[in-house]
Amino acid sequence: ASGYSLMRDPQYNKGLAFTEKERDAHYLRGLLPPVVSSQQLQEKKLMHNIRQYEVPLQKYMAMMDLQACIHPPTHHCYMILATSYLSMMLFCGQQERNERLFYKLLIDNVEELLPIVYTPVVGEACQKYGSIFKRPQGLYISLKEKGKILEVLKNWPERSIQVIVVTDGERILGLGDLGCQGMGIPVGKLALYSALGGVRPSACLPITIDVGTNNEKLLNDEFYIGLRQKRATGKEYYDLLHEFMSAVKQNYGEKVLVQFEDFANHNAFELLAKYGTTHLVFNDDIQGTASVVLAGVVAALKLIGGTLPEHTFLFLGAGEAGTGIAELIALEMSKQTKAPIEESRKKIWLVDSKGLIVSSRVNSLQHFKKPWAHEHEPVSTLIEAVKVIKPTVLIGSSGVGKTFTKEVVEAMTANNKIPLILALSNPTSQSECTAEEAYQWSEGRAIFASGSPFDPVEYKGKVYYSGQANNAYIFPGFGLGLVMSGAIRVHDDMLLAASEALAKQVTEENYKKGLTYPPFSDIRKISANIAANVAAKAYELGLATHLPRPQDLVKYAESCMYSPLYRNYR
Ligand code: NAP
Ligand code: MN
Repeated sequence: ASGYSLMRDPQYNKGLAFTEKERDAHYLRGLLPPVVSSQQLQEKKLMHNIRQYEVPLQKYMAMMDLQACIHPPTHHCYMILATSYLSMMLFCGQQERNERLFYKLLIDNVEELLPIVYTPVVGEACQKYGSIFKRPQGLYISLKEKGKILEVLKNWPERSIQVIVVTDGERILGLGDLGCQGMGIPVGKLALYSALGGVRPSACLPITIDVGTNNEKLLNDEFYIGLRQKRATGKEYYDLLHEFMSAVKQNYGEKVLVQFEDFANHNAFELLAKYGTTHLVFNDDIQGTASVVLAGVVAALKLIGGTLPEHTFLFLGAGEAGTGIAELIALEMSKQTKAPIEESRKKIWLVDSKGLIVSSRVNSLQHFKKPWAHEHEPVSTLIEAVKVIKPTVLIGSSGVGKTFTKEVVEAMTANNKIPLILALSNPTSQSECTAEEAYQWSEGRAIFASGSPFDPVEYKGKVYYSGQANNAYIFPGFGLGLVMSGAIRVHDDMLLAASEALAKQVTEENYKKGLTYPPFSDIRKISANIAANVAAKAYELGLATHLPRPQDLVKYAESCMYSPLYRNYR
């Protein structure tokens, strides 16, 4: 192997950090200037560079230039590579890619860089993906690959895959149908699986399924990278997904985790139910959101008082997030009260675009909304619903911004000593209200958390901190827990286990600030705890295949986690 190819291999590249010995042993002499740098110094320099960019999208692109999603086989194999792969490498533009440095940056600066590689900036990146696209970062499976999906999977250079994140691009964040450009989402999510949850980067596979797009703007955009047709639906859609799911299991076995991401709700619930019994599947929009929000609510009980079953919940938005959260809250209530889940659901109300979900609407409701159609007369607006239902907890999950108006927050404050208000819609522009509005309109009484981050707010001389109900707290540790136990199915009790582990990580110090989530800077430790609790549940339920069960699951989780520190090449 030549030193040149070693430097061009993002998995092995260390840039100026190649030691003198490595430079001698691996034919690197002369290819690098004389100085030998440390990884810390490289990190310092790169963070300095990234902070110079004023436009967030430039920061995103700088990070993506550093990352490598395509993993070449070890450099010894270059000679026998298929020509298609070689041409792909050339077409990559030969960035100075350095995977370990990418993850080192992300782990050490998680609070600063998370909003760049994930929401909100990744949303903008997806919208502009056509024009910023440089190199493939994951697999594209379109209708053109119908009948050949297994072959397509085999084109990916890595064989041993543990986590797949797949989207069909129909509901990217709160931004809608971005078609094939949704690829930014699986790429970003998997970067977090590795950085925050320690799943080995080479075991992660981002996939975009392209069945067309209904986004007229993209269809008319000359730089659009996807199929230029309206979305396939019905049998054509489900056949392609079925071929995909079968091929995945055939190629990677039963223990590969398939995370469905940003599918529209008319497919998401069905896919999850359909493949939940035959595959290891997880939908972060439904289940991950549920788990992270339940954790925040349970933690918030310390501040607002009462037990979970004593509270009344009102949601604005009854889609994947809203009904997913509602169902997990009801499940947890039932665990506590031992009452049937139907009873617990009665404490939870949802409003959709047509108003409060009530029994008289039941026949026209999508099937995931039906369990929430309680006896009540019709109520058409959120403000009316707040007034008649008198919720103690208000949760926004509609994707529509500015819907928690002054009137709504004031009504919550009139009914509750400490209203709990969660504005989950992403990105920031879609947030139901800002942190500042929540504190101002509630005269400093609300406990507030949101999907997109808000800076601390000063109100009447006091500083208010708000938590971020970010799924990134849960899914990386959840995935690690599944992978390390060799789980073959996801069970709802595992979501409760993840949620419980997260809520436990909130410290007295966090509570004093009004925070209902621990700081992200501790995320690796948080993820290890979540992974351990999820794995424990997998063993308890007989769904784990990695036997015997390790004694200390937290220690075991930590030992499984990918480290971005450079290794010595001898
Ligand atoms: P979804 O499945 O499309 O559901 C959206 C729901 O909102 C639907 O029930 C829809 O009503 C309702 N809705 C839309 N416009 C409305 C309006 N003007 N008034 C009242 N209800 C309205 O979407 P989703 O996956 O649940 O995601 C929703 C939002 O939550 C997105 O912004 C997403 O980014 C965010 N989210 C945040 C987190 C987090 O913070 N951790 C996690 C997941 C999702 P109809 O059913 O009547 O159409
Ligand atoms: Mn999502």
